[in-house]
Amino acid sequence: MNHARVQEIPVQRSSVTVINQPVGWNDVNTQPRSKKLKVASYCRVSSEEELQLGSLENQIIHYTNYIRSNPDWYYAGVYSDKGKSGTDMSKRIGFNRMIRNAMNGEIDLIICKSISRFARNVVDTMDIVRQLTEKGIFVIFEKERLNTKDMTSSLLIKILATFAEEESRATSENIDWAFTKRFERGEVVAGQLFGYEVNKDKEWIIVEKEAEIVREAYDLFLNGYNMTEIARHFIRKGYKKRSGEIDWDNNNIRSILTNERYAGDVLSRKTCTLDFRTHKTVINRGHKPQYYIEDHHEGIVSKEDYEKVQEILRDNKSDFNRGDYEKTPFTSRVICTHCGKNFHRFGKNIKKTIWRCSSNVKSELLCEADPIEEEHIEKLLREGFEKRYNINRRTNDGLLIKQLTKELSTAEAVREREQNLLRVELEKCLIAENKAILQNLDTEVLKEKRQDVEKEIAIKAKLWEDFDKDYEFREASLNRLKELKGSDKAIKKILDISFMRAWVIHIKVESPFLFTIKWIDGKETVVGKFRGGHNDGRK
Ligand SMILES: [Zn+2]
Repeated sequence: MNHARVQEIPVQRSSVTVINQPVGWNDVNTQPRSKKLKVASYCRVSSEEELQLGSLENQIIHYTNYIRSNPDWYYAGVYSDKGKSGTDMSKRIGFNRMIRNAMNGEIDLIICKSISRFARNVVDTMDIVRQLTEKGIFVIFEKERLNTKDMTSSLLIKILATFAEEESRATSENIDWAFTKRFERGEVVAGQLFGYEVNKDKEWIIVEKEAEIVREAYDLFLNGYNMTEIARHFIRKGYKKRSGEIDWDNNNIRSILTNERYAGDVLSRKTCTLDFRTHKTVINRGHKPQYYIEDHHEGIVSKEDYEKVQEILRDNKSDFNRGDYEKTPFTSRVICTHCGKNFHRFGKNIKKTIWRCSSNVKSELLCEADPIEEEHIEKLLREGFEKRYNINRRTNDGLLIKQLTKELSTAEAVREREQNLLRVELEKCLIAENKAILQNLDTEVLKEKRQDVEKEIAIKAKLWEDFDKDYEFREASLNRLKELKGSDKAIKKILDISFMRAWVIHIKVESPFLFTIKWIDGKETVVGKFRGGHNDGRK
């Protein structure tokens, strides 16, 4: 490398306002290269900084000198944009020109002060960085000390997801204020309420078929039935919830019996959204003002009946029976394939511990899944593990131990990546939704889209939570693998339920004889066999 060649361009750092001392890039291009890197920089000023006159000019001078003073770099230009507000930046002529030039092979490396200065938002940043990376073009973000070249894509996604959160926080201001104004004007933000439909003119219309079910719940309760009994009765009758399901439980009945809207009144803001960044709602216990509107719409039950029910509920708080199953590490891991609900463990007051489908516990009409003995679950799990890893045919080459160790460690990375991708997807929806709210546009479609993502996250979150809880089991299992000192044959000795658990995502129960085990790498093993006839699966 010939330093003399670049000395012809004098660098006058002292005359430049150094905005941010570049850090961590001495190591960027230390390895010898046959070709010099073509390096460009991108600068822009935000609205506040524009007040500091000359900020952009200083940045341009700084980066020009900085790039030119590196003997391993070719100067490929300093690109810039400026504007008074975010919308003025929408054209971003300089930025787009830089990306075009990069894609045409004129730039190998882009230096930018920070992630927030780069693309319009973090989601865009991600898309652009990915496109650049595919072409072998990398970006250095000075403030965050990131070089996209050094990063695995999953790490980059993780970092960008964090920044996306900050960004959507910024768009969520003012929305709360808009909602308060609507409540003050007496507008009711209608959710989906069983028994009613809201028409175009915002009028609440009674859905008679559902209203009958509501009235029946009040009648039965006033006649001495408890919530569990009412739920069972509804299941027997085959009454459908809004979701189309018939799996009523006492929580459903409780929410019918305690909702003042069935008596025609509205307590606005029973729940409130504390944070429009996440759109999470909580029960309003004085977080935000409440508004009570009497006779807002036609009631389904009389005010007298509603009040009588509330009195009984106040006197009798014990009618809140959540079942008596036991929580264990396998809770929500054993899934019924007939109804999709979980098996719960019942071990109290019974000789043998059994697992029962939770729908079946509510009513046999919902699901006819047979109970399973815990011993049997263990037995099939071991069978699955042995089958999957060919345990009986192992020699002592240590390959299995290596494989098992690798599986436990890569599983975490897969989970991280999956989560961060969904986080970015969610932030994208939130940003779009907040913008629409502020512009007073219809948000229904955006909301549905967000809820789809949230639903997906919620489903995955359950799996992730289970997976994370198993961290200790994975560690313990890894340690036990080490103890084997490379002897694959010895694995059989440690093959107990706590060891195997580290590999299990869930067990789907087809019948007490037939399971599908899903492992942490997403693969599945079927164990047991189809059996016809009268066997009940209990030995
Ligand atoms: Zn079931």
